[in-house]
Amino acid sequence: MSTATPQKFAFQAEIAQLLDIVTHSLYTEKEIFIRELVSNASDALEKLRHTQITEKEIFDDQAALEINLTTDDKAKTITIQDFGIGMTQAELIENLGTIAHSGSKAFLKALGESGTKNAGLIGQFGVGFYSAFMVAKSVKVYSHSWRAAEPGQLWTSDGAGSYEIEEAADQRRGCKIVLELKDECAEFATESRVKAIIERYSAFVSFPINLNGKRLNTVQALWLRGKNEIKDEEYTEFYKFQAHAWDEPRLRLHFSADAPLAINALLFVPKENTEKFGFARTEPAVSLYCRKVLIDAAPKDLLPEWLRFLKGVVDSEDLPLNISRETMQDKALIEKLNKVITKRFLKFLDEEATQRPDAYAEFYAAFGIFLKEGAALDYTHKDQLVKLLRFESSLTDAGKTTSLADYVTRLKDAQKEIYYLNGASRAAIEAGPYLEGFKARNLEVLFCYEPVDEYVFNNVREFDGKKLIAADHADVKLEDLPQTGESLSETEIKELTEWLKATLGSHVADVKASDRLVGSPALATNADKFMTPQMRRMMKTMKRDEGGADEPVKVNLEINPRHAVIKRLAATRTSSPEKAQLVAEQLLDNALISAGLFEDPAKMVARLYKLLETV
Ligand code: ADP
Ligand code: MG
Repeated sequence: MSTATPQKFAFQAEIAQLLDIVTHSLYTEKEIFIRELVSNASDALEKLRHTQITEKEIFDDQAALEINLTTDDKAKTITIQDFGIGMTQAELIENLGTIAHSGSKAFLKALGESGTKNAGLIGQFGVGFYSAFMVAKSVKVYSHSWRAAEPGQLWTSDGAGSYEIEEAADQRRGCKIVLELKDECAEFATESRVKAIIERYSAFVSFPINLNGKRLNTVQALWLRGKNEIKDEEYTEFYKFQAHAWDEPRLRLHFSADAPLAINALLFVPKENTEKFGFARTEPAVSLYCRKVLIDAAPKDLLPEWLRFLKGVVDSEDLPLNISRETMQDKALIEKLNKVITKRFLKFLDEEATQRPDAYAEFYAAFGIFLKEGAALDYTHKDQLVKLLRFESSLTDAGKTTSLADYVTRLKDAQKEIYYLNGASRAAIEAGPYLEGFKARNLEVLFCYEPVDEYVFNNVREFDGKKLIAADHADVKLEDLPQTGESLSETEIKELTEWLKATLGSHVADVKASDRLVGSPALATNADKFMTPQMRRMMKTMKRDEGGADEPVKVNLEINPRHAVIKRLAATRTSSPEKAQLVAEQLLDNALISAGLFEDPAKMVARLYKLLETV
């Protein structure tokens, strides 16, 4: 059915409706039309490559498998040419005149559902070929099918209800699409603007893309190549390019999966955690691709929050290029991707931790905080994350860490709990009064140096069926231990604790003798279970901001009835009550200092001078 004069066709009703919306849309990111046309060109080249395998006779067989863009800023045109399979007249009618193909259909459906001329939807769906009409007042498609017997064609439309097709002589194989730009869209006829757009969306398209004769995409879609053929330097170069990074990646995970989704992913952990240096919160940066074409450079829900430090690429063939972030179905798809990738990355970290413990320790030092965040907040992955946490402990050397799983292997027979202590440093924890009772009983205590640790353990609650308990908690019960040294008698203890309670008044909730002390005279535990030192400090800063006063600390005081200071105090109480009162107050302050609850140095200094007078 060849014709000499142009033949006029009406667009199918849905296409006409679509074009009306697209032509008049105020959608701001009009640049995506280039992504759409380049991805069509790439699809057409891919199809040609397949056709070449089965068909012997291909029209214009010498044409290179590449995409050529040319801009003409005087004429305000942009031209996209490919040497792909091209289209016959029938195919032009079918493909560009009807709604037979996927993307635009989904767009119209969503539009029907949202019931408005929602400009935002265009960006989400990328309305395929028709996006050209956002920027063009006229579109010409010159085409020659790979079938030699078919004549060349010219398809023309201004996007207003109809199009024309006529035969065109001397066409190369494939499609050459010429856009005559609207005046307000003339920017797309400038080379620099187009270059930037290609670099953003189409950097990894596997066919060469030339702009005004210059090759643009030189970086390969590394993630689709086999692991074994990729050199470390190639990975590093790719990382720097893709993540706009200057450093070398610390870790990388390159994997593919077929089920439940077809995924090719290449993920990197950067060298440094910039959040740690006080930079702004890291934004998600793993980009989502569908067959090498960028869909979203920074999709929010592709990975859980705590994985925001990752860089790289996830490519899934199962994503429609025109993915909608609005519809349920696609949300489910992203959720599925999220699940698969997170699980795989956790497994990877677990392998790193066992196979390369030193490298893992370095990674953990920089990025462990994110794992803690996940352990505390991501209920789905909590268990795997807790396994990845590492702490120094009373049984490790300084600078060496243990996992909770290893801790559990060292549990004492009757031990049902995992103990931890918060403190600024190893030295601070070891010097405090809380550890000694555990040490004397050979119980291991994890050392937590970061303020979030307590929050994490409170949320995690237990590991492997063992409760996580703060060793400075008032409820901690330790088994009896044969004690050395002479103790005050039961009556003496009773009298002393009652006297202390009366003397220290509102500062203590309770005073009792304790077995957890070995070398220290006294220690303080929180009377209020939930008011931990960290919590208290936080409350205080908040109250100070409001300009209000704060409550005095109230603690449980535990005394060591075998300690010389306590025995002296019991004696001084009757012989020299004034001095005894000063000692009692100082004893409490010392305990508060160790508990991180001490607040009134001026008062203490005055008291110490008074005490010194009595020596
Ligand atoms: P989609 O790419 O999602 O199918 P488009 O609107 O982008 O939707 O394209 C519609 C159809 O037009 C394509 O499916 C393809 O058959 C045809 N087409 C578009 N561009 C080209 C091209 N450069 N070469 C060959 N066929 C093309
Ligand atoms: Mg397309």
